[in-house]
Amino acid sequence: MPTNRDTVPAYDGPLRVPVEPAQGGWYTDAERAALRLVFDASDNWRSGWRFAEYAAAFEEQFAAYCGAAHARVFNSGGSALEMVLRALDLQPGDEVISCGINFVAPHLAVINQGGRLILAEPDPLTLNLDPADTEARMGLRTRAILLTHWNGAVADVARFEELAAAHPHPVHGPPKIIVDAARACGGRSPSGARVGAQGWATVFSFESKKLMTTLGHGGMVTTGDDALAEKLHALRTYGGRDQWGTNQVLSKPACAVGLVQLARLDTMNTARIERAQQRTTALADIPQLTMPPQLDGSRHLYYRHMILVPDAWADEGRNELMHALASRYGVGSIISDPVTYLGHDFIRRHTIGQHLPRAERLAGRLLCPCLHPRMENADEDLVRHAIRSATADVTRSRTTTT
Ligand SMILES: *Cc1c(COP(=O)(O)O)cnc(C)c1O
Repeated sequence: MPTNRDTVPAYDGPLRVPVEPAQGGWYTDAERAALRLVFDASDNWRSGWRFAEYAAAFEEQFAAYCGAAHARVFNSGGSALEMVLRALDLQPGDEVISCGINFVAPHLAVINQGGRLILAEPDPLTLNLDPADTEARMGLRTRAILLTHWNGAVADVARFEELAAAHPHPVHGPPKIIVDAARACGGRSPSGARVGAQGWATVFSFESKKLMTTLGHGGMVTTGDDALAEKLHALRTYGGRDQWGTNQVLSKPACAVGLVQLARLDTMNTARIERAQQRTTALADIPQLTMPPQLDGSRHLYYRHMILVPDAWADEGRNELMHALASRYGVGSIISDPVTYLGHDFIRRHTIGQHLPRAERLAGRLLCPCLHPRMENADEDLVRHAIRSATADVTRSRTTTT
């Protein structure tokens, strides 16, 4: 079976705009000052790099920002997902439902914690998990719904809480709503609640490409569940005194930088939204392309600017467009992301027999040209010009060959 990975055109020429930004937000003298302070206070045999105070401050301010009762900091979003899934204590046969178009991390965590991963179809416009298809796949073994706010488009968490309440597990009650907000830090739900305020647990990532970053790696979980907060604290610091645990806390310099980034998160998100909306408006008249949805308020943070090509272009035409963008205009773009079972063999081996026609078709139409709030206007103009011209090129080549 051909996978998305096999069919993505390899481009080795020098790109004028990379396939994606290596850093999500930006850094200032405030981060440098915070780092210097930490360094000077820590390079000392009496104090060292003890993190507790900084971690507690970062957690407290992050929880307050989200409107969540608790926050627990981790060394990555991946570790945090793993520990939240572990806290579910999945038994053989227990099922977790998640959208097929996704990053691999949430799916790998479900499988590693012994859950049966049940894949569901995306909404055709936002590519967020489709509530109707989710409900169709719920049953007596459903323990959790793992909801990813896809590429910055904030999903309606309350809708999934309703579904969970309507389909309780016979022993554990309503399935838990676990939110992967790695790409939606600072967003708001349709009700106006901050991402992180709803659901059983919300997982964030501060990896280099994310909307706020902590020197390359970092993660956080918010929750309103006191017991979960305590459990996560124990899991990431060797189990407290009475259970299994490991070491997954975030370092002191990273926490110090996180505090500064958090204070600037809204500014960085606003700049990103503005750039994305301007691009959407500038390209809205290209009939072949579907631009990302415009959602009210900060309901779409445009972690990536997702474009869909016509259905008839799925896979082949999309690949042609990506190739044209790169080879003729030097503009990189990325498929964000393939259906996980097509892009990752381990996930495929654990989801044998599952097939998502809608997700596969949509992923075949998807491409995300590079977007960053700090791109120079000349770079932005180049990207827009390239998308317009390359789409015309592909349209021409597809009408002459068919
Ligand atoms: C980045 C990301 C993760 C994992 O976060 P890391 O901090 O890189 O481990 C999980 N889910 C999604 C959707 C992501 O984009």
